[in-house]
Amino acid sequence: MTTIKLHNSKTRKKEVFQPIDPENVRMYVCGPTVYDRAHIGNARPVIVFDTLFRLLRHVYGAEHVTYVRNFTDVDDKINARAAESGRSIGEITAETTQWYLDDMRAVGAMDPTEMPRATAFIGAMVSMIEDLIAKGHAYAADGHVLFSVESYAEYGALSGRSVDDMIAGARVEVAPYKRNPMDFVLWKPSSDDLPGWDSPWGRGRPGWHIECSAMSYELLGASFDIHGGGNDLMFPHHENEIAQSCCAHPEGGFANVWMHNEMLQVEGKKMSKSLGNFFTVRDLLDGHDGEPGVPGEVIRYVFLSTHYGKPMDWTAKKASEAETTLRRWRKVTEGVTAAAQAPVEVVEALADDLNTAQALTILQAISNGVPLTMLGYAREERYGMADLLAGAQLMGLLTPELAGWEVIEVVDLSLFAEKFQAARVAAMASKDFSEVDRQKAVFREAGVEVRMSKDGVELIAGPGFDASRLEGL
Ligand code: AMP
Ligand code: ZN
Repeated sequence: MTTIKLHNSKTRKKEVFQPIDPENVRMYVCGPTVYDRAHIGNARPVIVFDTLFRLLRHVYGAEHVTYVRNFTDVDDKINARAAESGRSIGEITAETTQWYLDDMRAVGAMDPTEMPRATAFIGAMVSMIEDLIAKGHAYAADGHVLFSVESYAEYGALSGRSVDDMIAGARVEVAPYKRNPMDFVLWKPSSDDLPGWDSPWGRGRPGWHIECSAMSYELLGASFDIHGGGNDLMFPHHENEIAQSCCAHPEGGFANVWMHNEMLQVEGKKMSKSLGNFFTVRDLLDGHDGEPGVPGEVIRYVFLSTHYGKPMDWTAKKASEAETTLRRWRKVTEGVTAAAQAPVEVVEALADDLNTAQALTILQAISNGVPLTMLGYAREERYGMADLLAGAQLMGLLTPELAGWEVIEVVDLSLFAEKFQAARVAAMASKDFSEVDRQKAVFREAGVEVRMSKDGVELIAGPGFDASRLEGL
């Protein structure tokens, strides 16, 4: 069996992965708060952990992996969105949940095994909070329930901070009902106009952190294998999850392996609305600000070309290079049946802490007919296109679900190309380029890339190709 190694944020080491139960490998990843479209940064953990899910299914068997990713459907951001839009909370969360599923499927993410909604687990959260109070780890004050960080000696171990450092460094809310400024909310009171549930502490709603602790316990148990999310969640969210879960269920160890993806930037800068480089997955898919849409498969390839533990830069150049590669891969695997097994070198690259960049390098070599000895591997026999297909599909690329976007290239534009070439030749003689410019403008409008050389013209239909716009020619 393939040995998987994963970098564990808890030990800060790359370790051999040993599941608690190989018959049921269990992974939890923090999911979205559903009040708006997911931005492209949000797609990074989704694509990273989807790739890990696929690898685990490959190694342990598809029926032997449970992947849970939650939907946070109770949150003050949702309440604010409802208040400002005049729409109901249920309508907003249902709509946003569907958007999320559509957008993530469009970048090739499989649905996790379970996608619990927080509001369906309020009873489990209340029980866990009662248990934490009974064990002396939490206290009720002023309609709130707070977790007492001083009651858990290991608080801060994941992110490597002490409670004193946290107080010094954090802009914490110093509410009068907190015994320690770092104590965090497990339950808070709801006014009549806000969502609320009856509880021993009055009508209220849960804090964010308790959701993941309660849902992972209900669905995966007191100990499970992998917990994932972006590294911005390490503190305080994951630290708080650990404190709650380990205090409520000291018999379990909560998650054995913690994995964190690094952040995504856009064209070298932190994504932000004020810099104008903020966009959602849907913006990217459909096209935005005059830019044509980027196929989901291309987005996925770009994401996988950087290791999850490194900061990743989204650039238009990378997208265009990925598109060229994938068009070629789609073409050379046309009509090919995937090999029964992905190339062992690809599986091993993925098993080495998800080295997706190396896996893509191997697939590039295979697609170009380059022997893997050139990359330093021992294998002398060459792989073929059936192996390329199997390897790519293991990574969620070249799948039937993501197909279709590339076929527009095979639209026959040769007649247009001949006519355009004739106009060029005429313009060279007459020095009047107006007809050439007119045709070029039409091609641009129609999403057709024009490549000119001294030998002739090549027309390539891009992802935003619109044939009806060529009628004017
Ligand atoms: P949020 O909705 O902010 O809680 O984020 C949902 C998920 O997306 C979490 O796992 C975050 O760590 C992750 N995330 C948010 N922003 C980025 C980013 N710029 N790059 C990568 N991951 C991100
Ligand atoms: Zn969480």
